[in-house]
Amino acid sequence: MSAEKSKLHAETLAAQGMGRVAEPHRDIVPPIHVATTYERGADGAYPGGRIYSRADNPSYDATEALVASLEGAAAALVFASGQAAAAAVFQALAPGDGVLAPRNMYWALRKWLLQFAAPWGLAIELYENGSVDDLAEKARSRRPRLIWIETPANPTWDLTDIAAASAIAKEVGAFVAVDSTAATPVLTRPIELGAHIVMHSATKYLNGHADVIAGALATAKDGELWQRIGYIRGSGGAVLGPFESWLLLRGMRTLHVRVAALCANAQAIAERLQKHPKLSHVLYPGLRTHRGHDIAVKQMRGGYGGMMSVRLRDGEKAATAFVARLRVFKRATSLGSTESLVEHRASVEGPGTLCPADLVRLSIGIEHVDDLIADLEHALR
Ligand SMILES: *Cc1c(COP(=O)(O)O)cnc(C)c1O
Repeated sequence: MSAEKSKLHAETLAAQGMGRVAEPHRDIVPPIHVATTYERGADGAYPGGRIYSRADNPSYDATEALVASLEGAAAALVFASGQAAAAAVFQALAPGDGVLAPRNMYWALRKWLLQFAAPWGLAIELYENGSVDDLAEKARSRRPRLIWIETPANPTWDLTDIAAASAIAKEVGAFVAVDSTAATPVLTRPIELGAHIVMHSATKYLNGHADVIAGALATAKDGELWQRIGYIRGSGGAVLGPFESWLLLRGMRTLHVRVAALCANAQAIAERLQKHPKLSHVLYPGLRTHRGHDIAVKQMRGGYGGMMSVRLRDGEKAATAFVARLRVFKRATSLGSTESLVEHRASVEGPGTLCPADLVRLSIGIEHVDDLIADLEHALR
């Protein structure tokens, strides 16, 4: 789906789900198109412009147009999950191509890269998230086809300077793709900073209600790489259901108010916990003490997101006991929904995890901040 140019603000486009009314009843909310196939004219042409729903579905139109518009992109595509969206980018490369990916990144994607993409023929090299020097050195020596960025990155919320990485990519002729799930298009717009592709686990903030698994990609340019990615979705078949696309559009209508509310909550919680005697670290991009805070100031606007991690001075047992005592926070994996979630990452990731055993990840929601702070302080007591 190609983006439409609009002079309206992102908040307006999102609140109105792109603002189209549907003929013939002038519906304010788009209908859901469940047909898998579309009739040909007697001449064999497709007067409705659609052929078969694995390639494309009209229920994607407004959803993809809104994602593209929020990212300032030329076009966007929705996928069956964030993983499917990310995989499509890597599958668009050729065996033998080099990929630079961050050492700290979403665990399941890192695992897929090492266990599937590497044996399939991509040369995967990991760089240190927070170090532009390490990225530059590896980019110059390896000449990768793709530099993958996640910022802020799971589970330590390290920042990567997208503009600096994009300049390096340009020098070595690489594409830059950014997993911008944690930043959301409200806080960071990677394409404006030089990235070619933006990826979202739309399961998280874009949908925002923990009731849809979905992914999205947005592109700066409708070029050869993007055409290949579109072909991979349609032929590989990792397509989103029409109802899920509709729910995602509904979720995005409140994206800006949700992100503003949870950024305010997260900042207040991080500042409150910062000096807590039971904690050795509060990892949150909005704290001046956070590694990469200066990059966050440069490339995030309006807040620093809802994701943070805390590390307990007394180690793993204290971390799991803290998680067990929380009452308002829900013990669950995932992030980006209205309710606050907590997770002991090392036990979720299992053997081979890079996550410190004393680390607890918090996804801050939009509840009253006093309830969240009281819950955290009670559980730390
Ligand atoms: C959840 C997540 C993914 C994977 O997305 P799914 O929708 O679960 O497939 C990728 N990256 C980040 C940062 C995530 O949080």
